Amino acid sequence: TVRVRFCPSPTGNPHVGLVRTALFNWAFARHNEGSGAKFVFRIEDTDAARDSEESYGQLLDSMRWLGFDWDEGPEVGGPHEPYRQSQRMDIYRDVAAKLLEAGHAYHCYCSTEELDARREAARAAGKPSGYDGHCRELTAEQKAAYEAEGRTPIVRFRMPDETITFTDVVRGELTFTPENVPDYGIVRANGAPLYTLVNPVDDALMEITHVLRGEDLLSSTPRQIALYKALTELGIAKQIPAFGHLPYVMGEGNKKLSKRDPQASLNLYRERGFLPEGLLNYLSLLGWSLSADQDIFTMDEMVAAFDVTDVNPNPARFDLKKAEAINADHIRLLDVKDFAERCAPWLKAPFAPWAPEDFDQAAWDAIAPHAQTRLKVLSEITDNVDFLFLAEPAIDEASWTKAMKEGSDALLRTAREKLDAADWSSPDSLKEAVLAAGEAHGLKLGKAQAPVRVAVTGRTIGLPLFESLEILGKEKTLARIDAALA
Ligand code: GLU
Repeated sequence: TVRVRFCPSPTGNPHVGLVRTALFNWAFARHNEGSGAKFVFRIEDTDAARDSEESYGQLLDSMRWLGFDWDEGPEVGGPHEPYRQSQRMDIYRDVAAKLLEAGHAYHCYCSTEELDARREAARAAGKPSGYDGHCRELTAEQKAAYEAEGRTPIVRFRMPDETITFTDVVRGELTFTPENVPDYGIVRANGAPLYTLVNPVDDALMEITHVLRGEDLLSSTPRQIALYKALTELGIAKQIPAFGHLPYVMGEGNKKLSKRDPQASLNLYRERGFLPEGLLNYLSLLGWSLSADQDIFTMDEMVAAFDVTDVNPNPARFDLKKAEAINADHIRLLDVKDFAERCAPWLKAPFAPWAPEDFDQAAWDAIAPHAQTRLKVLSEITDNVDFLFLAEPAIDEASWTKAMKEGSDALLRTAREKLDAADWSSPDSLKEAVLAAGEAHGLKLGKAQAPVRVAVTGRTIGLPLFESLEILGKEKTLARIDAALA
């Protein structure tokens, strides 16, 4: 049975690449749920200098917001507790000792300066510049001499002198020769275990069957496979998992989207009012597709179809326009009540400029269906409905200059007259009124409605105008036209 894991480090805000990794693991587990597949969530917080409790909280909150559920992990528990590496230090210490004892690892006394100098020399000589095996076969006397100098060793894993080949579930067969995979550190001189140790040890103990992660981690895979073999020999690991490396996500200028790139931050999308299902739908397309002719789908549809072997190994480009277009489609798919509820955060401070008591539930209920057909992201709702809740429209200068031309006053006067006489129980009658006012001044509807829209809502673009006027009401509409004429 499939057991996959998502194991982020709590450093800073989650980024979209990380979310895609979580999504593919989750979808793979859920697709195989019938045969008992499990999605394990583990926190890799062994780097005390960079990890924080705050981003641990953010991670959990983000996972919940995205709608992921996990079978084992924080707050849920499971048979391999604890799921935070900071609480598993005894386990790693024990495994490191066993690796040392069996000769799969050794103490390395080289200082950073010595390593740097030898690396430079190797480079200059055109030789491989990884660790040169200096401390591989130290005698007891040599060790004692180093210790007498006051050196504290790191623990270094001894790579077997053999070529490592594995079949990546995304990329096919990959081969690494020994000169490209030197011995590597697994425990710091201060005793702190490194990612290189704790990650495969936990994958082994948690009986992970498939490691699906970003391509940036591909170079650590041959090392981990070698470590796994050693763990298997020691009876700590039962099997070597399959590995699959998900393609890079490219950002602006076709550069790899980095964690620090503001465009990569999940919070940005959340604050802009992406729906989790819209964002996930888009992120799933970074390396995968449901079918050639269907870009929009639900998570259920994705789960039903998802197979990690279908993931495309080529770099994927993050396209904000496309992400927004997909999100817009998901907004259209919502039940209108659901849509109205999801807008709630943007209808109050700090986003909304109106006082809470000026919010009018009936007006909101009436305008929501119209907004639902227009928005790309939910945060756009504030500007689109503020005319209903502010005492005066928030006039956008550029809109005003664009709409208020010579002759606008005359048009507005006629429009006011016709609107005053119109039947306010339907938008059609209001449209007739503005249409007639336009005709009287030789203007088509589009040109005639622009000054009316700016006078009433403050902007040239917005929700369907006549529905907006009807919801705002006759009295306020006419007063705003009067104000624009004054
Ligand atoms: N904690 C690692 C990271 O966030 C996990 C890498 C892996 O999936 O093996 O990069």
